[in-house]
Amino acid sequence: MTQTITVIRGDGIGPEIMDATLRVLDAMNVGLQYEFADAGLVALEKHGELLPASTLESIRTNRIALKSPLTTPVGEGFSSINVELRKRFDLYANVRPAKSFPNTKSRFPSGVDLVTVRENTEGAYIGEGQSLSEDGETAVLQQKVTRRGSERIVRYAFELARRTGRKKVTVVHKANILKSTSGLFLRTARTVAQEYPDIECNEMIVDNCCMQLVMKPEQFDIIVTTNLFGDIISDLCAGLVGGLGLAPGANIGTDAAIFEAVHGTAPDIAGQGKANPCALLLGAAQMLDHLAMPEQAERLRKAIITTLEEKDSLTPDLGGSGNTTSFADAIIRRL
Ligand code: ATP
Ligand code: MG
Repeated sequence: MTQTITVIRGDGIGPEIMDATLRVLDAMNVGLQYEFADAGLVALEKHGELLPASTLESIRTNRIALKSPLTTPVGEGFSSINVELRKRFDLYANVRPAKSFPNTKSRFPSGVDLVTVRENTEGAYIGEGQSLSEDGETAVLQQKVTRRGSERIVRYAFELARRTGRKKVTVVHKANILKSTSGLFLRTARTVAQEYPDIECNEMIVDNCCMQLVMKPEQFDIIVTTNLFGDIISDLCAGLVGGLGLAPGANIGTDAAIFEAVHGTAPDIAGQGKANPCALLLGAAQMLDHLAMPEQAERLRKAIITTLEEKDSLTPDLGGSGNTTSFADAIIRRL
């Protein structure tokens, strides 16, 4: 069976890491076909718009996209193409695994294996209802949390736990202070949790969660939280395990899912062939999980881990003297 996916090569280091990633996927023979679509600066130059209708159509049809980082030039209509994609396809779950990897200059080279599930469509992060008084002295931001939005993200977290054999879901909130919004999220989470007696569920206030993450990250398995808290916590988690070059993310909705690297276009090293392709490769592994190919996903992760362990052809950000291509080749050898 072949599955067609939309591939967005992106800007900056995007094309380099995408080419490396597709080469690895090809070597795995997982039966994927690629439909290339443009977005970002490349699309603006070629089609006169950042997010062409043909790209949206491709994602709508294939329902799965693998995407490199994109540049959103200032003053081109959107504040961010990534945010725009999330809105267009109602990609309500932002799923960011953070796992310790060997030979990364990180605080936790072992022991961390957690997933942050962040609500992606509501809450303070959306920036709805923002205003500044005429004298510029008072700023207001409204935040909206709904039962429906809370329920579907918490349910996603529990289903993910079941599907991937994880044991615990931690609901992160600030319901003691933000009684209405965070309160609704927490109450909804408690109700959903009752349907999953097989999965342990605990609750943690967000400030305490940050401290716990830094001191004892091994206690976490899946974290589920609202948009802004999830934004901050998932970057904190990426930092625990070695930073941007190794952090993948998925944006998942009912009708489409987009898999990506968390980092940006890294213009400082673009075109030099030294970008680390791991984050996008790990995003591809998440995609394989999502496509019900968990053995292939694991095969890819294992090959990456072994390559890191043996320090074979690593890119300069990991202290190696290899490049994007040699790193990908080293991973292919270990598949
Ligand atoms: P953008 O505006 O697109 O977010 P940025 O300038 O913020 O780009 P990031 O991509 O967020 O850059 O990266 C921040 C730093 O991390 C840069 O110095 C970049 O070179 C480095 N970096 C990011 N991704 C990688 C990668 N895959 N491999 C190596 N270094 C990376
Ligand atoms: Mg950036």
